[in-house]
Amino acid sequence: MEKKTYNLFEAAQKQFDHAAELLELDGATRDFLRMPMREYHFTIPLHMDDGKVKIFRGFRVQHNDARGPAKGGIRFHPLETIDTVRALAMWMTWKTSVANIPLGGAKGGVICDPHHLSLGEQERLCRGWIRQVIKNVGPYSDVPAPDVMTNAQHMLWMLDEYEVITGERHPGFITGKPVGMGGSLGRREATGYGVIITVREALREMGIPPEDTTASVQGFGNVAKYAIELYQKMEGKVVCVSSWDENDQCSYSFQKKEGIDLNELSSISDSFGGIDKEKAADLGYAVLPGEAWLEQEVDILIPAALEDQITCENVDKISKRVKIIAEGANGPTTPEADEALNQKELFVIPDFLANAGGVVCSYFEQVQSNMNYFWEKDEVLGKLDAKMTSAYVAVSDFAKAHKLTMREAAYVISVNRVAQACRDRGWV
Ligand code: GLU
Repeated sequence: MEKKTYNLFEAAQKQFDHAAELLELDGATRDFLRMPMREYHFTIPLHMDDGKVKIFRGFRVQHNDARGPAKGGIRFHPLETIDTVRALAMWMTWKTSVANIPLGGAKGGVICDPHHLSLGEQERLCRGWIRQVIKNVGPYSDVPAPDVMTNAQHMLWMLDEYEVITGERHPGFITGKPVGMGGSLGRREATGYGVIITVREALREMGIPPEDTTASVQGFGNVAKYAIELYQKMEGKVVCVSSWDENDQCSYSFQKKEGIDLNELSSISDSFGGIDKEKAADLGYAVLPGEAWLEQEVDILIPAALEDQITCENVDKISKRVKIIAEGANGPTTPEADEALNQKELFVIPDFLANAGGVVCSYFEQVQSNMNYFWEKDEVLGKLDAKMTSAYVAVSDFAKAHKLTMREAAYVISVNRVAQACRDRGWV
């Protein structure tokens, strides 16, 4: 696992600098927005099941909260770094801004591998994370949510710890909670569905019926699964998915040319989305190397796993047939690879627009939690569709009017809103 020389925060800053140039932002605003406003680094002592105590590193980065309380997920990942969290926090600021919801951007993380922690250990880690940052997060300052390898149960443990310490009920403190315990119907589906709503709009603009298209997806976690579900409901055909194999410490791609069966693959995958390769082979899937998902002859590619996946090394392997790349993950494309995609005139729906559905629904969850009144699923998904569609259309119209890429247009719109909020508050 040598990779990681690539610095995600530098990539995020490079993208921001380009947007600042396009917007002709003044120096102070640039300096302010290219760094997080606040960050917290801490240690979490964890009492392991075997009686030993292990120390874990945790982070929370609040990039900007000019437009509202900071918002963003918490990742559990063995290769987490502070610079990764900084980049992801910055992208949350642009994400809430492009979706035009009244929130800022933050991200948190713990360097750990939950594959190797028991449920009890995971619970104590969640509670430990809250104890270290309780003074700096809260329903009106910074509202966490799930992200890579964290889920609704983790959020509930964190909420409980927060409520035990404060001695009050604050269901709006955290989002992505279980339905029935302050969670919103539709939150589980929201990120993946949101990705496909943007794909649907892109196809509409291109005049291509979804039922005539095929797709290949990287990842089989929460985002990927629900993206596949909605895309299949639109009668699109997914021919390949990839997933991480914890035993072999590498990923594999699973291909079925007549179309993958979502329920079948879900039934042979673990809770982290790792697909059992022997069982998949028995079910008639071709088990291919990890990168094969990217080399498929399809119309749509959906990277929905981790950052730094479409790079200079593999960008040329993308088939000429591919028309749309919808970034379900945060930061899946390096800036250099992005340039190559632009040269190929590939239509890229950038991450913080494509995957904004999660935080949009988190916002709905926050609103419902604060009111303690919960909506029906159709209402949530209808509101999600309306928000995602209008964000997409605004970016697409702006891109066409100013001859920009979708990424540039999304950046200009979102950075401009945040910069304006900072100016309006008298900060810069
Ligand atoms: N972790 C998700 C993201 O990257 C959701 C964040 C949230 O709901 O606050 O957008």
